[in-house]
Amino acid sequence: MNAEAADIVVVGLGPAGSRAAAIAAKAGYRVVAVDRRLEAGRPVQCAEFVPAMIERDVPNVTAVAQQKITRMLTFTEATDCEETPDFRGWMIDRAAFDRMLADEAANAGSACRYGTSVVAIDFDGTVHTSDGLALKPRVLIGCDGPRSRVGAAIGQINRALVDTRQLTAPLIVPHDATDIFLSADYRGGYGWLFPKGAVANIGVGVMIEDRRRLKPMLAALFASLSASRRIGTRPFALTGGTIPVGGRVGSTGRLGATQVLLAGDAAGLTNPVTGAGIASAVQSGALAGHAAADMLSGRSGALDDYDEELGDIFDAALSRALLRRRQVLAHYGDGRRPDATALAEGWISSPNYWA
Ligand SMILES: Cc1cc2nc3c(=O)[nH]c(=O)nc-3n(C[C@H](O)[C@H](O)[C@H](O)COP(=O)(O)OP(=O)(O)OC[C@H]3O[C@@H](n4cnc5c(N)ncnc54)[C@H](O)[C@@H]3O)c2cc1C
Repeated sequence: MNAEAADIVVVGLGPAGSRAAAIAAKAGYRVVAVDRRLEAGRPVQCAEFVPAMIERDVPNVTAVAQQKITRMLTFTEATDCEETPDFRGWMIDRAAFDRMLADEAANAGSACRYGTSVVAIDFDGTVHTSDGLALKPRVLIGCDGPRSRVGAAIGQINRALVDTRQLTAPLIVPHDATDIFLSADYRGGYGWLFPKGAVANIGVGVMIEDRRRLKPMLAALFASLSASRRIGTRPFALTGGTIPVGGRVGSTGRLGATQVLLAGDAAGLTNPVTGAGIASAVQSGALAGHAAADMLSGRSGALDDYDEELGDIFDAALSRALLRRRQVLAHYGDGRRPDATALAEGWISSPNYWA
């Protein structure tokens, strides 16, 4: 396909973009999807947990699963440990997961171009890429993550962000739970140990204003876990990345005659407390692909319906998480910090979180 002839341009081939591109291409539209990465899913910037319910949207998730998760353990200020039984999901190989979804997009007929960045978007909807293309699609779908260039072009920007840092290390004792570490030190975030067979992802996230403290905070968490002989002393992979935690931004817009939709992190669908966003990226990507196809088939109102549907599906959970996040953050200031009760009540394992 001549790229300039695309009906739909998808920016970003993460879970949201791949799913959007697959659905729109299956509906018979000419789809060009671009990603600045050289290959799908790499480098991995993820703790790699997905809830079991993702099987509704990705029935073949077990093909990339590394191990089952059955429980969550929440440690508050490194002392109290509370178990949440029946917390089910999978630890996945995130690179393989993204590659699987990207293959589905390509197999459906999308032209997927890697190593191609969107470098500018004009007011009339023309999309300029790093390899010199000027694409003028009828629909532009922004699945380009937390700092979405497509979102910025329509004035929809994720303003509240968490920054993260993560190491992978050998896991000495096999484990079936995601471990969460709550501490007043981790302002606006938390620490984690997520087991993945013989290894574990150990990370810390904090509000972006505190990002300079991430390195020593992760070093301290890592040292305490290896001192208690849960993990080895030598990490072998370092990653990190940004997570939007401000809730949903407007998910549709217009640039000249080009209709614009946002999905996944670009639309602010990541949970502001847990930072989980893979499942919502897949789900919203599918809806965006359907909405783009519906719009091009002449169904008026398809874009408004898309925004409304995102609201119906995600707003209740996002609003609750935003409220709990704000409540914990309100305990900081004038030298004050949240105590263990305030931290615990702001986390999903507490009945008060759901009250
Ligand atoms: C350290 C970390 C740990 C996490 N752990 C979990 C977890 O355990 N479970 C969970 O559910 N969620 C987790 N998340 C969140 C999850 O990774 C995201 O919510 C999810 O990836 C969102 O998918 P997406 O498709 O919207 O965006 P992304 O996966 O971010 O994909 C966006 C794509 O757009 C591309 N792109 C960006 N800008 C451009 C451009 N200008 N031109 C071309 N391409 C561009 C990028 O290269 C990228 O491939 C974690 C996030 C981080 C940072």
